[in-house]
Amino acid sequence: MDRVIIIRYGEIFLKGKNKSYFESLLINNIKHSLKKFKHEFSRSQARYVISNYDGNFEAEIIDTLKKVFGIHSLSVADRVECDWQNGFEQILQSIKRLAISLAEGNVLKNPTFRMTVKRADKHIPMRSYEIAALLADAVLKNTDFTVNLSDYDYEITVDIRENGFAYVYSEKIYGAGGLPVGCSSKGMLLLSGGIDSPVAGYMMAKRGMKQCAVHFASPPYTSERATAKVVELRDIISPYTADMPLYIVPFTEIQLEIHEKCPAEFMITIMRRFMMRIASVLAKKEGCSAIITGESLGQVASQTVESMTSTESCAELPVFRPLIAFDKDETMALAARIGTYETSIQPFEDCCTIFLPKNPSIHPNLKKVIEAENKLDIDALVARAIEAVQKR
Ligand code: ATP
Ligand code: MG
Repeated sequence: MDRVIIIRYGEIFLKGKNKSYFESLLINNIKHSLKKFKHEFSRSQARYVISNYDGNFEAEIIDTLKKVFGIHSLSVADRVECDWQNGFEQILQSIKRLAISLAEGNVLKNPTFRMTVKRADKHIPMRSYEIAALLADAVLKNTDFTVNLSDYDYEITVDIRENGFAYVYSEKIYGAGGLPVGCSSKGMLLLSGGIDSPVAGYMMAKRGMKQCAVHFASPPYTSERATAKVVELRDIISPYTADMPLYIVPFTEIQLEIHEKCPAEFMITIMRRFMMRIASVLAKKEGCSAIITGESLGQVASQTVESMTSTESCAELPVFRPLIAFDKDETMALAARIGTYETSIQPFEDCCTIFLPKNPSIHPNLKKVIEAENKLDIDALVARAIEAVQKR
């Protein structure tokens, strides 16, 4: 007998002829995520099995797998030989152990259980429900649990596979869902130090988009600590995105130029237009086919339809805004769940918060914005910023 982790995938089931492509991406991502753990990977039809790992790292391995998109659920199981000629002796032993440990941890009054048998191996001359009845005996003998097939507190599952093994488990741990990262091209995430943009990256990774990130920093107005915070946010979300290189773009010169030469009311719009231009250049270099931001409709002056239209016109790729219809508290709840919230709320300055005009234009007129912007040597400013980019 050995202890293994069973992995089940979700939406990939619906992929028909392309299923093997999605599966190979998922398998690669699983292997990549478990790189630092000793383990063996195998598959049995639509299940993947992680075995031969160090039990001390089991919880950590499960936490890691819970961040791999495409996984629907996991179970820690006993893998035993399906010795049906000997009356399922090994399976019974495993069920007995499991039942005793469930009973020890049980706090419910009159606990009930159901035995579920799945039989992929059709050589066994018994029906699933007959095997279940036989196996349920081990639970009844070792606990005070009673059977209830429809309204049960515990479900003990025995999954008999065609490879001569059976998997015995009682718990299903839900995974991240979504699609395997890499199946939906690659995007360039505009990552600020705020709450929204890391969540936006998570959302796009959920639908299979691989990502790079770009952060605009304005030293000395923004500190090294503010950049370190962004690196930390990248590190928190990169298990979901299967890695995420981060570009740090020096933005001070551009901001000072805008501040000096353009009307204050257009400062933010023009600044964002530069962000889009620079992000587009980096995106193309990295083979990205979209830009991602954490914008949400109406949240601030720069996120009105008109503001977004005028920034978007400088992007050379489609701009995805997965949080467009999220309320702030919905985003905050998701940030807390994925573990970015505590880092995001650390109070460090962002380049958007310096030189902030008192009255930014809420509905900037694109023609006027372009007129104002033309006082700047846009191409040279963009080129200099790109030249000084750092990769982390
Ligand atoms: P966030 O919480 O993500 O900072 P926000 O609500 O503060 O968002 P803004 O500051 O208006 O909103 O930024 C809107 C979006 O623009 C961000 O979600 C992010 O995608 C991008 N952005 C803003 N500042 C930066 C920055 N310094 N570097 C990279 N992207 C940025
Ligand atoms: Mg921000």
